[in-house]
Amino acid sequence: RFFLDQPPVAGEVTFDEAESQHLAKVMRANVGDMVVGFDGVGIEYQIELISVGKKKVIGTVRQQEEVSREAARQLTLAVALPKGDRQRWLIEKCVELGVARLIPLLTQRGVAQPVEKAIERLRRAVIEASKQCERNVLMEVAEGQTLEQVLASQPEVALMLHPSGDAIQPATIAAAGQVLGIIGPEGGFSEEEVAQAAAAGCQVVSLGPRILRVETAALAMASLVTIPPGP
Ligand code: SAM
Repeated sequence: RFFLDQPPVAGEVTFDEAESQHLAKVMRANVGDMVVGFDGVGIEYQIELISVGKKKVIGTVRQQEEVSREAARQLTLAVALPKGDRQRWLIEKCVELGVARLIPLLTQRGVAQPVEKAIERLRRAVIEASKQCERNVLMEVAEGQTLEQVLASQPEVALMLHPSGDAIQPATIAAAGQVLGIIGPEGGFSEEEVAQAAAAGCQVVSLGPRILRVETAALAMASLVTIPPGP
């Protein structure tokens, strides 16, 4: 599966340099090979390669269809990002679990303040994870936002995860089409931030008695919201 950053023109697609290198050097693709392409907004293409260069691969679209593998409930996670490799791991798992949007959250005790270059790296990680998990719509990675900006978005249900919050109520989530989950940094939210969220109508909820790392809390939240319960 290969990402298309441009829609087809007259039935032809040109892969960007990174995808062309993956096709030509790693996969050793040849003219005549069939590959699957996806455009990041929901369309999947069956593509026959007609030209294979090390930096530019071109193909003809043989078939295309809209294939959605999105979660029924739309989840936005505002997360005070952890550092280094844990950041990339978090992104990868959020993509797999069907999170719609990730907002790097700027908090009082945050350790990793997202700069433009880091956000670009995370967006590239979204593409890589989408290729692997067969997701056709890219998870949005927004620019960093303050808690005040995040709270202003007014989703149907907003949950701030906090170890000393009230027990989470699955019924609240089950009734909602859109959910916002807010996850704090390793040092936790300050009392001022918790009060600010509560005043804005956010439910302050706990995931149990153990302290989870930022990425564990994010993924626990994602699985509660995006994986539909069986009959
Ligand atoms: N000592 C910090 C505190 O008490 O908040 C621990 C912070 S924890 C490592 C990082 C973030 O993960 C928290 O701010 C919270 O959003 C979330 N989190 C971790 N464990 C949690 C739990 N049991 N219930 C709810 N949220 C949790």
